[in-house]
Amino acid sequence: MLDVPNALLIDGCWRKEATGGTLALVDPVTEQRWHQVPAAGPQEIEEAVSVAARAFRKADWAMVSPRDRATVMYRLAALIRENAEDLAGLESHNVGKPIGDARDEILGGASCLEYYAGGISRFGGETLPVAAQGFDYTLRVPIGVVVAIVPWNFPFPMACWKVAPALATGNAVILKPASLTPLTALALGGLAMEAGVPAGVLQVVAGRGSEIGDTLVAHPLVGKIAFTGETATGAHILQVAAPDIKRVSLELGGKSPNIIFADADVEAAAAAAPMAVFGNTGQDCCARSRVLVEEPIYDSFMEAFVEATRGLVVGDPLDESTQVGPMISAGQRERVEQYIALARDEGGRLLCGGERPFETGYYLAPTIIDGLPSSSRVCQEEIFGPVACVIPFHDEAEAVALANDTEYGLSGSVWTRDLTRALRVARAVESGVLSVNTNSSVHLEAPFGGLKHSGFGRDLGREAMCLYTELKNIFVSVTDEDLT
Ligand code: NAD
Repeated sequence: MLDVPNALLIDGCWRKEATGGTLALVDPVTEQRWHQVPAAGPQEIEEAVSVAARAFRKADWAMVSPRDRATVMYRLAALIRENAEDLAGLESHNVGKPIGDARDEILGGASCLEYYAGGISRFGGETLPVAAQGFDYTLRVPIGVVVAIVPWNFPFPMACWKVAPALATGNAVILKPASLTPLTALALGGLAMEAGVPAGVLQVVAGRGSEIGDTLVAHPLVGKIAFTGETATGAHILQVAAPDIKRVSLELGGKSPNIIFADADVEAAAAAAPMAVFGNTGQDCCARSRVLVEEPIYDSFMEAFVEATRGLVVGDPLDESTQVGPMISAGQRERVEQYIALARDEGGRLLCGGERPFETGYYLAPTIIDGLPSSSRVCQEEIFGPVACVIPFHDEAEAVALANDTEYGLSGSVWTRDLTRALRVARAVESGVLSVNTNSSVHLEAPFGGLKHSGFGRDLGREAMCLYTELKNIFVSVTDEDLT
C-alpha cells in the first residue's frame, strides 16, 4: 500500500517541513480538509536548483548509457503499474476525478515512461553532406536543469509528459505540481528513487506558484521551463524567463471547436459530444466547448446531445459507474457559475444543467447553452468547467470562420463523411491538434500542443525529446591528405 505523500522530495530526501508553510488539501466530494503537505518557499527552491545543477554537472545521469537510463525508466513504469490502484485512488481523492479515468491516466503515465525509455537509444543527431571537405554531424545534448510546472486538472499525466522525455534525454528535473494537487507528483518522485533515478535528478517541490514561481523560473541555473497551465500564467513565465534567454515551452488554455456537418454520422457525433466537453468535469484544456452544428441537423443533433448529456452519471468519483465528478474547488465552481449567470443575462438558453445536483461536494451539472453569438464572453473565454456553448452554421466557410474566431488554438474535431472536406477543414482550423470523426486527440507517439494563445512547443512524440535538448553541429575537417 502506497503511503499518502506528506513531504517534499529534495536531493533524494523527504522534507516534512518547509518554509512556505503548508498546502491544505480539501476533498472535493466532502468539502472537508483531509490532508496537508509542506509548501516549498524560496529557500527550498534555491536548494533544489543548486542540487539539480550539481547532479547535472556531475553527469551521473546524462552520461549514464542510454540503455541503462532506459532500464531505470522501464523500472519506474513497472513500479507505477504495480501501484496503479493506489495512485489512482490518490488522484481520484485529490482531484475528484472518476476512478476509471484516474486509473487510465496513471497507466497512461506508465506508458509514457515506456515510450520515452524505448526512444532513448533511437534519438540522436545526423550526418550532413556539407559542401566543405570534411565530416559534419549534429548532436543532441541535454539542456541541464529543467523545471516542469504542471496544473491540477491532469496532475499525473502532465507530470509524466514532461518528466519522461526530460529524463530520457539526460536532464535533471525539478517538478512543481499545482498547489491543489501535489500527491501523485510526490509519489512519482518516491517511485523514481526506488527505480534508481539518482538523488537530485528528479526532485518534487510542491508549493504556491505565486510565491515560488518567479524564483524557479528566473533562477540562473535553470535552463528550461516546461509549463502547462493558464495562458495568463504562461505569458508571465515567458516574461520572467526572457532576460536569461531560457528555453520555454508553454501548453496553455483552449476553447476548442467540435464541428458537426450535416453529412456526419450524427448519432455517433451526438453520442460522443458530451464526454468531449464534460469529461474531467470540463476541466480539460482540450474540452470541445464550442459545438458548431450545421443548420439542417441542428434540431436533431441538439435533441440527441442534450439527451445524452442528461444521461451522464454525475456522482461519487470512487463509484466505477461515475462519468462526471465534482469540480476541483469551491472557487472554481463559483467562477463557472458566474459564466452561467452571464450567459442567462445575455439571452443564452440553458438547455440542460446550470444547477448544483447535490448539496455537498463541488458538483455542477453538465450545462448546454445556445442562443449566444460567437463574440459573447461565454463563447470566447475558457470557462474550464462543465459548460458547452452551441452555435449553428450555414456552410463550410462559416464553420471554419467560427472555429477560428477565438484567441486559442489547441484542439478540435470535425465530423463529416466527406473525406475531402475533412482534410480541407482540418487544415484550415487554426489548432495544434485536430481529430476527424472522433474527439480523441492525445497520442503518446504524436506531438501535442497549441497555436495562438494556446502556447508553443510540444509535449509527447519525438518533438518533446527535441525540446529537452540543444542541437549542436560539429564539423571535422578531413582533407584528401588525411585520407591518403
Ligand atoms: P495555472 O496557470 O493557475 O497553474 C499552473 C501551474 O503554474 C501550477 O503548478 C501553479 O502553481 C503554477 N504557477 C502559478 N503561478 C505561477 C508563476 N507566477 N510562476 C510559475 N508557476 C506558476 O493553471 P491551472 O489553473 O492549474 O490549470 C488550468 C489551466 O491549465 C487551464 O487554462 C488549462 O487549459 C490549462 N491546461 C493546458 C493543457 C495543455 O496541454 N495545453 C493541459 C492541461 C491544462
